[in-house]
Amino acid sequence: MSLAPPNFPDLKTDQVESYLHPSVSVPEGLNNNVLVTTIDRLYNWSRRSSMWPLLFGLACCAIEMIATASSRFDLSRFGMEVMRPSPRQSDLMIVSGTVTKKMVPAIVRIYNQMAEPRYVIAMGACATGGGPFKEGYNVVSGIDKYVPVDVYIPGCPPTPEALMFGLMKMHQKVDTQSVTTADWYKREGSAFVPVPHLGPDIFDPRQADLIRAETMSGEAVAADTGGDRAEGGVPGGLRNLGEKAKARIAQAKERAAARLAG
Ligand code: SF4
Repeated sequence: MSLAPPNFPDLKTDQVESYLHPSVSVPEGLNNNVLVTTIDRLYNWSRRSSMWPLLFGLACCAIEMIATASSRFDLSRFGMEVMRPSPRQSDLMIVSGTVTKKMVPAIVRIYNQMAEPRYVIAMGACATGGGPFKEGYNVVSGIDKYVPVDVYIPGCPPTPEALMFGLMKMHQKVDTQSVTTADWYKREGSAFVPVPHLGPDIFDPRQADLIRAETMSGEAVAADTGGDRAEGGVPGGLRNLGEKAKARIAQAKERAAARLAG
């Protein structure tokens, strides 16, 4: 078997191609030093090579995320070794861990405070879909119900290698974007994500109309009956809804069902 070293000068010559239009004149000595590219490509390359992640660990998956930043895995190759403590300095939120109902309003509020362009990675089974706690009394079935998620990383927990693979997928997604079509360069900007309220139980902001209609129906009946607040602070009308209120709730449910079907 021949172990002759490759011919480096030839290799270099073979890999140089001329992309310049003939009308562009470049001085002879600079011919191999001129690079022509697009704004999108240059801009995406610079953004994806220095994404600043937000420090946001919620449970056991966070330990794997922290390990990814250690010397063994070398996150600095992506220009992102420093986890930022502030949403205003970050453009990538890695939601790693079990998302409880109590935590969701804080996550959404922090997401809204992040600078644009901003991205979200759901790391692990819990952040992706509830994981082993799915349908638990205190856990939501995935953070994507509340903020837009760009990349999902499966596993319980995912390994540091899996997180790095997810980051590379994130880079590929950034590479496909264009400054001419991205939401954050439009005059109106990207949409504000509604912050859910933590009440006796958290609610899906997309069902806000239905919840408001049902609540108002109960309050209206309570007002009709003198606004009496019975034991436990429960309005009297909520326990004894009249026909009118029931009809209003039925209408609100129909509207919500039609909206979901459409
Ligand atoms: S996916 Fe598994 S390892 Fe990660 S937070 Fe949930 S239970 Fe913990």
